[in-house]
Amino acid sequence: MNTKEIMECADEHLIHVYNRYKIVLDHGDGVYLYDKDGREYLDFGAGIAVFAFGYNNKEFNDAIKAQVDKLIHTSNLFYNEPAAEAAKALAEIAGMDKVFFTNSGTEAIEGAVKVAKKYGYLKTGHDDNEIIAFSHSFHGRSMGALSVTGNKSYQIPFGPLIPDIKFANYNDLDSVKELVTDKTCAIILETVQGEGGIYPADKEFLTGLRKLCDENDMLLILDEIQCGLGRTGTMYAYEQYGVIPDVVSTAKALGQGLPVGAFLTRGKANDVLVPGDHGSTYGGNPLAGAAVIKTLEMFKTHDILNHVNETAPYLEKKLEELVEKHDIVTGRRGKGFMQGITVTVPPSKIINKAIENGLIVFSAGHDVVRFVPPLVITKEDIDEMYIRLDKALSEVE
Ligand SMILES: *Cc1c(COP(=O)(O)O)cnc(C)c1O
Repeated sequence: MNTKEIMECADEHLIHVYNRYKIVLDHGDGVYLYDKDGREYLDFGAGIAVFAFGYNNKEFNDAIKAQVDKLIHTSNLFYNEPAAEAAKALAEIAGMDKVFFTNSGTEAIEGAVKVAKKYGYLKTGHDDNEIIAFSHSFHGRSMGALSVTGNKSYQIPFGPLIPDIKFANYNDLDSVKELVTDKTCAIILETVQGEGGIYPADKEFLTGLRKLCDENDMLLILDEIQCGLGRTGTMYAYEQYGVIPDVVSTAKALGQGLPVGAFLTRGKANDVLVPGDHGSTYGGNPLAGAAVIKTLEMFKTHDILNHVNETAPYLEKKLEELVEKHDIVTGRRGKGFMQGITVTVPPSKIINKAIENGLIVFSAGHDVVRFVPPLVITKEDIDEMYIRLDKALSEVE
């Protein structure tokens, strides 16, 4: 099929829940993607914060291929070595105790919510416990995750959702305290809000939430699906706050494009779920396990955190230059390689122009252009991004 035929076929047969950009991506190499007609795109989206090491990485691909030839899947009724090894490595880097592997981010949230609900149930003997979540949050599209997502437009047509979810204001500790009752079993938030517009948590806010959870015997659940795995300069963003959650959700970069996520528990959250409480046919199958093992190993062998910390200030500087230069760009915020610029025109206008100029970026919230590039981007890649985005912004103006 040619480009036009592929788009027509997709539009005819795929349920229309995405307004897709009009290109057909065909293959990738390093930090560049190529469409069906051979056009090249510098990728500052990484498949939404997934491809930490870039596309067509031989080291990663070889590890996956070796596991494909050995054993792709077996049921969770048996043990398998990749899952065991992957869980050990993941728990270690996250500073957590135990892992449940899922197939996506939203499933990691489902699991975390179930841990919270059961924790409340064990504590009170009632199933009417409450969870506090936040405005502008994003935790996924399945019903449980949607219930804790602070975005009415995603929620409204799908009610009734899980009851007794209360929404506080992000970075406003008092707004949380007001909502705590003796039925509150957990607080859930992103350490750095992603889809909602790239808002990092303030240090006092997060340490305050940790304290609040300890004082009231509630679980602190941190969603690090987007901001985790090196993106902000530490393996998990909460390390920078001196806060350790009771439950963590992780996904996106975890499998480098293989569908794998996880929720992790620590301390009092460890033994809440027992046999019969939860499960997944695919979750943590040998192929997913091999992807996780290789990904985590590559973080170490490629010294990627050092690279992020060395290079991210340069990305910030170049984005600040765009704020100075263009009237339609009003500010920058973010951490590490999770950055956003606020803009006064619809972000999709800028993104379409960027794509015309061979640059892929995404939006976040209603007024943010988001940058979540592969973690291996260099200063030269950032210079190239600047040239293409600068041109796109001028064309929009
Ligand atoms: C992407 C994302 C999710 C959902 O993950 P999926 O794999 O798309 O289900 C949940 N939380 C955050 C913070 C995310 O960025």
